[in-house]
Amino acid sequence: MAHSTIATLVAFGLISLVGFATPIAAQEDGTVTERAMSLHQQAIVVDGHNDLPWEIRKQGNLDIARLELGARKTTGHTDMVRLGEGGVDAQFWAAYVPARFMGAGAAVVALEQIDLIHRLVATFPERLEMAYTTDDIMRIASKGKTASLIGVEGGHAIANSLPTLRMFYDLGVRYLTLTHSSSLAWADAAGDSAVLGGLSEFGHEVVREMNRLGMLVDLSHVTPEVMRDAIETSAAPVIFSHSSARAVRDVERNVPDDILAMLPANGGVVMINFYSEFLVPEGEERPGTVGTIADHIDHVVAVAGIDHVGLGSDFDGIDEEPVGMEDVSMLPNLTIELVRRDYTDEEVLKVLGSNLLRAMRQAEAVAVELRASGQPGLQRLPYFGRADEGNE
Ligand SMILES: [Zn+2]
Repeated sequence: MAHSTIATLVAFGLISLVGFATPIAAQEDGTVTERAMSLHQQAIVVDGHNDLPWEIRKQGNLDIARLELGARKTTGHTDMVRLGEGGVDAQFWAAYVPARFMGAGAAVVALEQIDLIHRLVATFPERLEMAYTTDDIMRIASKGKTASLIGVEGGHAIANSLPTLRMFYDLGVRYLTLTHSSSLAWADAAGDSAVLGGLSEFGHEVVREMNRLGMLVDLSHVTPEVMRDAIETSAAPVIFSHSSARAVRDVERNVPDDILAMLPANGGVVMINFYSEFLVPEGEERPGTVGTIADHIDHVVAVAGIDHVGLGSDFDGIDEEPVGMEDVSMLPNLTIELVRRDYTDEEVLKVLGSNLLRAMRQAEAVAVELRASGQPGLQRLPYFGRADEGNE
């Protein structure tokens, strides 16, 4: 958050400085809150995944105006007012493509959602600005706006074609989630049948081309075998744009410890998902609290280290969230919790966003290097009648 003030946060009731004077407990709490707010303001807060674009498709039939996002809403997780209150400096907006569109239409749905994100940013120029690089993020955040980036969710969107992947990059896409909920011809999805046992040869080519372009490889939604294959092949840090720790909450969408242990060598970042289903341990009471989110951060820090964790809310893509994290305006509550848990200032800044910025900067540097020495990949897999196009 760059320009908002503590006064603004107090005005919106996010923090209370009342009763600051007397009881010792309250006094300590006030100090923690004050320090947290100052850190939150100083930080470049980055969120790895927000599904508002799909809500606009669903509720508004692609028409942004119908959702009235300029005013503070009482429904959904995100609008322009609450985004500002949450101090989000950089947001990856998901261009989600449901697995049911696999094959015919997947690339079209992705294009429609990319178009929608560009239109969203153009609709609210006082709050949003498109970002394509880490330098863009820094520049836009310094103006107090939310740098807006695009992540395509579901590798079926590239329609088995590296040239199509490349065009997504040119349209602003800065990460691709390799799968959604269904396995592809080139990558297995978590929760679906593991057909390949990892990435196929074409899947490895997708990762290499993403490295060459400077598009982050997102491993939320894939199997541990695909995670491992991708990390071994990737020359750049990978991300998990919206996944939590499997050792804390054992679901397939979360990241196992042996994969977390690979992150220091790779430079990758796990961006913790706020969905109660992915957070709250088996047998414990739902929906959990902000502390439950911090438990996952603690665990990733313990296994992978402080440089490999970030935030990937999944707001507007989830239907149950922890108490104190009911919408995007509540993000400062997590900063308070981290300060309470004795994270240092530098550590808090890393979790809130600088880890992701560092990983993205590394990916940009790798791309510069690979573009100087390599050529664009031309690989395609057959799909729908393409098999006989050589005879044209
Ligand atoms: Zn997802």
